[in-house]
Amino acid sequence: NQPLNFKQELTCVFGQPVAENPTQCMMEAAYNDCGLEWRYLTIEVAPENLEQAVGGLRAMGFRGANLTIPHKVAVIQHLDGISDAAAMMGAVNCIVRKGDKLVGENTDGKGFVQSLKELTDPAGKKIVMFGAGGAARAIGVETALAGAAEITIVNRSAERGEALVQLLSEKTSVPVSFTQWDRDYTLAEDVDVVINATSIGLYPDVDAVFPLDFSSLKSNMIVSDVIPNPPQTHLLREASKLGCPTLDGLGMLVNQGVIGFQLWTGVDPDPNVMRTALEEVFGV
Ligand code: NDP
Repeated sequence: NQPLNFKQELTCVFGQPVAENPTQCMMEAAYNDCGLEWRYLTIEVAPENLEQAVGGLRAMGFRGANLTIPHKVAVIQHLDGISDAAAMMGAVNCIVRKGDKLVGENTDGKGFVQSLKELTDPAGKKIVMFGAGGAARAIGVETALAGAAEITIVNRSAERGEALVQLLSEKTSVPVSFTQWDRDYTLAEDVDVVINATSIGLYPDVDAVFPLDFSSLKSNMIVSDVIPNPPQTHLLREASKLGCPTLDGLGMLVNQGVIGFQLWTGVDPDPNVMRTALEEVFGV
């Protein structure tokens, strides 16, 4: 006979705004599926309250947390340590409690690479990535560490684009270059993988046109997008019409969630349960 237990293990996401973040539904679906008495809360935290909120995690014994906009960089100063990958990216999207210590990880890029591997191994591939923000930094570092042959960063602002080129040149051995994105971008013929790591197409901007010369997109190129909501962006719709294999942002969301789940619980969740929960929410 098990003693009665009304205390659940707690995990959460901190963000602002955060109400549209769907992580809770996939995590709780996976907790249920694994028979774990765990909860995942969606918590709005203003930047000026982040330190106290992290103190709250400690005081209430949370087992883990995710961070989203605008907390991924600012949270680092409130933690007891961070992983090498998170230090390289300068951003944390996942806190793991180890004993009485809170340790920062970054699972975004690893989640992306895991989804990409469903279609191709990034090793030896020529990659064009749009964007140079937090998601792009994580994806850039992990695809470089996974052995990409070459990465071209295409970004609207030169400052952020060049900063990412510098980061990848200093911390990895991948050949990397920058192109400023001030007109429709034309892809070279030998590109293997095209990645949108910008926020173009994110709800509510669902009809945003992706600034690409679509005549340069060839059916052998793999096209992937980080946008989880809505999963079918203009870029992916056009790529599918041209016959390109595509990956939507739900894949990255699920896979970074799988890694966080494993770090928190030590249990392997079923990614299909998590993806199905998201598809139900988004009516896919
Ligand atoms: P950031 O604000 O750090 O970066 C945004 C990037 O998008 C910058 O490179 C910015 O360019 C570019 N950008 C935004 N609007 C435009 C535009 N109209 N034209 C050209 N470029 C534009 O955001 P994040 O990197 O944190 O997030 C980016 C996206 O990734 C978000 O939509 C988020 O939802 C998604 N994401 C998805 C995850 C998943 O698991 N699927 C995980 C993490 C993020 P510039 O430098 O010129 O401003």
